[in-house]
Amino acid sequence: MKNLIVVSISAGLMLATSFVSAEETLPLKAVNRAGEVIDAALEAYGGAEAITNLNSVSRKSHFTTWATNQSRSPGPPWDEAEQMSFSAIDFENKTFVGKNKGSGGGYDFNGSQIIKGEEGWQVSYRAGTVTPIAEPDFNTTAGPFIRVTAPLLVKQLQNRRQTSHWLGEVEFEGRPHDVITLVMEVGPALSLYFDKETHLLSRSERVLPPFGQVDYRFTDYETIDGIPFSKTFKLYVNDEPNILIDIKSTKVNQSLDTYATLPQDLKLVEAAPPAPTEVEVQEIKEGVFLVGGGTTYAMFVEMDDHVIAVGGTAGIPERIKALRDVVEDKPIKFGVMTHHHNDHVLGVPAYQAEDAMVLTVKEHEAVMRAAATDAESLKLQFVEDKYVFDDGSHKLEIIDIGPTPHSKHLLVAWLPEEGILFEADHFPNPTNGQMAPAQPVTKRLAEAISEKGLDVKIIVGSHSPRIASIDDLRSAMALSSTKLAKTSP
Ligand SMILES: [Zn+2]
Repeated sequence: MKNLIVVSISAGLMLATSFVSAEETLPLKAVNRAGEVIDAALEAYGGAEAITNLNSVSRKSHFTTWATNQSRSPGPPWDEAEQMSFSAIDFENKTFVGKNKGSGGGYDFNGSQIIKGEEGWQVSYRAGTVTPIAEPDFNTTAGPFIRVTAPLLVKQLQNRRQTSHWLGEVEFEGRPHDVITLVMEVGPALSLYFDKETHLLSRSERVLPPFGQVDYRFTDYETIDGIPFSKTFKLYVNDEPNILIDIKSTKVNQSLDTYATLPQDLKLVEAAPPAPTEVEVQEIKEGVFLVGGGTTYAMFVEMDDHVIAVGGTAGIPERIKALRDVVEDKPIKFGVMTHHHNDHVLGVPAYQAEDAMVLTVKEHEAVMRAAATDAESLKLQFVEDKYVFDDGSHKLEIIDIGPTPHSKHLLVAWLPEEGILFEADHFPNPTNGQMAPAQPVTKRLAEAISEKGLDVKIIVGSHSPRIASIDDLRSAMALSSTKLAKTSP
């Protein structure tokens, strides 16, 4: 942000306070100046007519991504991954096709999303399935592609110019830019930086809670059918590089029919029903509870005079509250954090508020303290390979099964007497029990189960309400070895 100098917002404010005439108010000026910037941009992007007639765009690209706070280790450098991507949009027919193939975080993916007006499908080449999308939404699905494609943002400005305000003039990378806003159909407003000389888009910014500032850079323009497209694109989150897109090909105004056709050789399956939206308490076995709703779940084990909580995903305070309907007065003495990823340490303040001891590995200490309400007073117990709770009422083992393709250290909770295993991020468990071929993370989990000689009967996890059986893990493993998955065209 150091290279940004706001030069004219304050001048605009002074003008507004010294004159009362309609032409000179700050809002009116903001609207008028935005209109001028939009007109100049339309000219630079091939003219208003070319942008009006720009109905379809399809692009092949190579993505490099960085897993900020989601890497195998707790700090930078973040894990780098690659994927191939194809996106195509047709505004008239409200058609969008997005395909992605690659891997990251111990997961492989190879699939596509097809939206055709009121209809939509999720295609998994990896699992060999096609799943209808319950409520396809063209605007939401196409949004990310529009936001990284400069001429499509200019087309948005053309159609939605009434939403645009001029924010001021800034220096960006040594060149003066006009900054104007754009409010798309869905999502927070964007601020677009247009070069004052070329009138091309250099940068776009928006604030996206809970991530923070998302910053898009458009570079390396080339002209295709009279319209300048940027060939490279960078996305930063809070000033850290997050995605680099290298465009391999761009086609404009061609029919999307071939891309939007459903593959005929895949199995049509029903979508898994949504998880409960309200927090629910399930007693898996006596005194062992899976509590959660939506995409986040925690396990609570009732000991003689206290409770041990496992998992730190979103909504731990509500999950503790729900637990109190069934276990009224025993204090939560321990909170087990499965790993250091930012969506799995949200429970630290909740456990600290309960005055519980937080279990983690030594390597994750800094992340846990940073997540706490008060870093210094956070009570930590480090797990070295294994930590055993046994008070005669329940035996609970916390085992580090790392390294895995997802995390160097990963704590799972194991109840040997009940045969219950609680895990995070290593066993996708859809609500309908339809297993997909085992991911690399799942293979590592299965390997660890056999290495440690655990006689697992039940598997529950931090992202599913479903109580899975060991047979579900076996069928995921079998599917991956029989290679049912088709390859992408
Ligand atoms: Zn994770």
